Amino acid sequence: MCNTLDIEQLYNEQLQCWEMAHHNYKQLDNVEVRSLVIDGADVRIQHNPGRIQSVSARIDKPQKAACFLCQENLPTEQMRLPYHNGEYHILVNPFPIFRPHYTIPAVAHTPQRIAGRMEVMLQLAQDYAPYTIFYNGPRCGASAPMHMHFQAAQAGYMPIERQWRNATSSLLRTHNTGKLSLISNLMRPIFVITTAQADDAAHLFEMLYDAMPPISDEEPMMNIMARYEEGEYILLVFPRAKHRPDCYYTEGNAQRLISPGTVEMGGLFITPRSCDYEKLTTKEIVDIYTEVSTSPDEINQIIKQLQKTI
Ligand SMILES: [Zn+2]
Repeated sequence: MCNTLDIEQLYNEQLQCWEMAHHNYKQLDNVEVRSLVIDGADVRIQHNPGRIQSVSARIDKPQKAACFLCQENLPTEQMRLPYHNGEYHILVNPFPIFRPHYTIPAVAHTPQRIAGRMEVMLQLAQDYAPYTIFYNGPRCGASAPMHMHFQAAQAGYMPIERQWRNATSSLLRTHNTGKLSLISNLMRPIFVITTAQADDAAHLFEMLYDAMPPISDEEPMMNIMARYEEGEYILLVFPRAKHRPDCYYTEGNAQRLISPGTVEMGGLFITPRSCDYEKLTTKEIVDIYTEVSTSPDEINQIIKQLQKTI
C-alpha cells in the first residue's frame, strides 16, 4: 500500500510532467482569499476561477461515456496509485482548492454512496493522517455524483477544523470509546463523532445515517469530513436539506455562483467569479447555511430517533 510519502511524490511528479496541473497549482499562489468572522465563527472566501466547471456542473443526467472519473476518460498525463486492494485510485486533482488536493475515485463506475464505505474513509484518514478526507453526497456538492469518490486536502485549511473543538456541543450518544455530539452555535448544525476506534466511529455513523431522513433511492443528504489526529478519529457530518441555494439560480446582481459542498460547509467558500468574491456578504453566508442545512425541526427529529434506542 502506498503511504503519505508516496502520494506526495505522486503530486511532485505530476507537477513536473503535467503542464495543466502545474499551471493550475501555480495559480493557487495568486488566488485571493478574504476572511470574515460571523458570530465568532471564521469564514474564508477563496476567489478561484479554476473551479468554474465544478461549481457549475450539471448533475441531473450523468452519462458513463462522459464520466471524467472513469479510468478510460482520465487525461493521458494522469498518474494513479492503487488503494484498498486496488478498489480505489489516488489521483492528483488538476483543478485544486488545496495544495495538494487529491481525488480518490472507486475504480468501478458506481454511484456516489457512503453506505458500506465509511470504513474506507476512516482508513484513508488514518493512512494519510496529514490530510483531511472528505465526501460530498450525490446532491450535496459532488460534481460527479455518478462515480463514487472521496477527496483529500491539506489538513487545517478549512476554518471548521480549527473551530469545532471550542464550539458548544451537546452529547447525543456514546458507543464504547465513541461519542456522537451536535454543534449548534456555528450557523449550521454539525454532528461530531470522536473515538480512538474506527469500528466505534463507523457504528455511530451508521446510527446517525439511519436517523437522518432518507431521500428516495439515494442517501440522507450530507457532507462528511474525516481526520485522524493523535490517536483519535474525528468525523464531522453536515446534514443537508438542499443542494444549491436559491441565489445560485437568481439572475442579475443578486446571483451568487456558489455550490456548497463539504468545503463550503467547512467554512471555505469557493467563488470562481470575482463579482461573487467581492460582493458575498455576511448575511448571504448565514442565509446560504440556513437554506442548505437541515432545519432545527428536522434536527430535533434526528435527535429523537437517535435517542429512541437508548
Ligand atoms: Zn465513472
